[in-house]
Amino acid sequence: MNRSTYKHMILLIFVFGIMFLLACGGKAAENEPDAPVEENAVPAVVSVEITTEPFVTPAPLIHDEWYADRNEALIKYVRAYGSAQTENDVLKQVSAMAIDPDKKRVAFTFDDGPRDELTDAVLDICEEYNVRVTFFIKGSYIAGHEAQLKRMLGLGCEIGNHTWDHVDIETLTPEEMRQQIESVNQQIESLLDYHIQLFRPPYIRYGKNDPAVRDALKEIMERNGMAVVNHTRSSHDTYDNYTEDMIYERCVAPYDEESAHGLHNAIILCHDKTMRTVNAFRRAVPELQAQGFQFVTVSELLYCSADGFHPGWIYSKAD
Ligand SMILES: [Zn+2]
Repeated sequence: MNRSTYKHMILLIFVFGIMFLLACGGKAAENEPDAPVEENAVPAVVSVEITTEPFVTPAPLIHDEWYADRNEALIKYVRAYGSAQTENDVLKQVSAMAIDPDKKRVAFTFDDGPRDELTDAVLDICEEYNVRVTFFIKGSYIAGHEAQLKRMLGLGCEIGNHTWDHVDIETLTPEEMRQQIESVNQQIESLLDYHIQLFRPPYIRYGKNDPAVRDALKEIMERNGMAVVNHTRSSHDTYDNYTEDMIYERCVAPYDEESAHGLHNAIILCHDKTMRTVNAFRRAVPELQAQGFQFVTVSELLYCSADGFHPGWIYSKAD
């Protein structure tokens, strides 16, 4: 029995226990077959039951301990790098970043930055609509883009690792691989006092058919408390012939044939390197919010999923 099933059972026992106590407390008449069923009691049980069905109802799997740590970290970075002038504003901004367990979740990711105007433009959209995304950055682009990196954290966004030089790690020795990955973490740690938890391999090459590469990568991930993140759906924005409209369609399509996966719990691959992507994202955000989606970071998506977050694991989605 997995942890979430166990939690659901405890919750069911609790709900039925409360109903039993109410029945014994002289309120039996309310529970007689002809009496109207109290609206809050029965639907609560039903909503717990259907959480096991993906794409129907989002699974409310927010663990208290993780969520408290997450909020504490957000307060720290919003205070250090955000726009809030007072402590009260810091707390207000972090409250606005709350994860709603009853809403669908999607994690947008932007690779190959940070850059100047393009990353700024993505961050402007995040700020305007209060959405959080994940940036998989190149270590060689850190210098000169400190302002963008600080702003990412100040807006509650996540920074992930995309190697120092954007290299195909399948061509590296284990030691070279370690240097390409750990150097980015160390630089971000010393610059921003921030621990990177996610790694996205350039070209999505992570030793799929090469156990030696995969083992070396797994060892580096586990040592640094990191997980490998691929994607559920690509926006295809690296194809030159992909127009803004086509990228937009990839971002908002309810179902993707290529991955056989819907948008809920999906990780979407984009790049903050063309205006086409930025413009498509600017249209996709309000559209998806209107459809009931909330934008979360990749680690939030994983921590809120049934799978959970595990160092060394390779994720393409969160189910
Ligand atoms: Zn890349």
